[in-house]
Amino acid sequence: MSKSPTKYIFVTGGVTSSLGKGIISASLGKLLTAKGYSVTIQKLDPYINIDPGTMNPYEHGECYVTDDGAETDLDLGHYERFLNNRTSQANNVTTGRIYQTVINKERNGDYLGKTIQIIPHITDEIKRRIKILGNTGKYDFVITEIGGTVGDIESLPYIEAVRQLKWELESDALFIHLTLVPYLKAAGELKTKPTQHSVKMLLESGIQPDILVCRTEYNLNSEIRRKIALFCNVDKESVIESIDASTIYDVPLLMQKEGLDKVVLRKLGLNDNTDVELKEWKSFLNKLKNPKKNIQIGLVGKYTELKDAYKSITESVIHAGASLECKVNVKWIHAEEINKTNISEKLSNLKGVIVAPGFGDRGIEGKIDTIKFLRENNIPFFGICLGMQTAVIEFARNVLKLKDVNSSEIEENCENPVIDLMEGQKDVTQKGGTMRLGSYKCNLEENSNSYKSYNKKEINERHRHRFEFNNKYLSDFEKNGMIAVGKNIENNLVEIIEIPSHPWFVGVQFHPEYKSTVANPHPLFKGFIEACLSNKK
Ligand code: GLN
Repeated sequence: MSKSPTKYIFVTGGVTSSLGKGIISASLGKLLTAKGYSVTIQKLDPYINIDPGTMNPYEHGECYVTDDGAETDLDLGHYERFLNNRTSQANNVTTGRIYQTVINKERNGDYLGKTIQIIPHITDEIKRRIKILGNTGKYDFVITEIGGTVGDIESLPYIEAVRQLKWELESDALFIHLTLVPYLKAAGELKTKPTQHSVKMLLESGIQPDILVCRTEYNLNSEIRRKIALFCNVDKESVIESIDASTIYDVPLLMQKEGLDKVVLRKLGLNDNTDVELKEWKSFLNKLKNPKKNIQIGLVGKYTELKDAYKSITESVIHAGASLECKVNVKWIHAEEINKTNISEKLSNLKGVIVAPGFGDRGIEGKIDTIKFLRENNIPFFGICLGMQTAVIEFARNVLKLKDVNSSEIEENCENPVIDLMEGQKDVTQKGGTMRLGSYKCNLEENSNSYKSYNKKEINERHRHRFEFNNKYLSDFEKNGMIAVGKNIENNLVEIIEIPSHPWFVGVQFHPEYKSTVANPHPLFKGFIEACLSNKK
């Protein structure tokens, strides 16, 4: 039997942002994967930055890094966590990247003689980027999430490109539109008008959605579904309720209950009415919702009011906690609010603390005071990237008793730069995409907490940094009890530091949080939570 062609599913959003397009896309991907299809999910972002790597987390939330070193939108993290497969640069496209490619081609003379226009040149490049994943021949489904809200000026070329693609792909393409059905308290009713308007807006661009996913705070009754179906030209089964859930991990089951996967398959001519069990997913949810233990840990960072900034870290904690049947409450602590006098009060009742990644000097001294307290009081510590670097600074200042110690990122001309710019970074002047990015090998010392967690000697983890442990100081550190238990052999870079005399003191130069999924909670997060559970203080 010949393989049927790749099917393309386009997900648009209307009425307002933050309706959860990413989670709906990931949930549909999960359901199709569970039925044995191979699925990948792509995000199109309508901003002009080449990637979110240069954006402040206040603007964009976390920057998610893929194995191939792409700095991408945080929705790709959801795709990986739900589907347990890997994404790459091709899974995230921005307007900046589209224009850059077209303008480079123009300079090369590729369009010689022509006037370059949004249609067809920009739209062609968008279509090419959408089809790259399908053309690999690896996927039965490519789900493409279009960022922004229908009607935004920025989204127009994307909407036009997928309209054209539908024309080419015919029955191999499908549109899902996510909208809001608000509840008006004064009227005591759910309202369908915003949905009608947003579908009209899509129709003006030549797109008739096949399926409507309606975000709502209350159940949609049959009458509301009928009304939406009638006004928006879809059948009633294609009006899918997306009710607020207590956890994002409920959404695949909610979508299954609403029959989203079945409608999608039917509309794409792949009739399949069976329900898959999602056994492992349900077992994860069951453990998540019925924990046997309960602990509190701290997360020290500088974006405590912005939970999206550390999205992958908090999701990793959820995965690891659930696998150990433990509810892990995370107390967010702003590094700038910590000082030597309030530290024991700030960290009281915490079984362990994660010190977050970051850039720049804000909150550095609070992080260092935190780590000193954790080290001296034998409280589990997990430092990620800048969190590891601050642990190295703390140790040099307070154990090695070196003077004027810092990272050269914070104080360029300090006397003892125990964290220093990587050799390969010294001539780099451009900011975008120039850090040490993506997956690199790391070899572990067998006699370490890290090895105990991974249970293997060679690991691969993703990176995003410019500075590194300064090897000039390594023997001094190791003589005094801080050991480099993980190293990249090729470049002789220190990747993990530990203090063997401490119950669990682990600092990693990489970002383990990017690789934790529901199906595979990350070993180091599990190791950390286990250590917190063993902390009897
Ligand atoms: N700012 C540090 C560096 O560039 C740490 C980066 C991070 O925490 N991701 O090396």
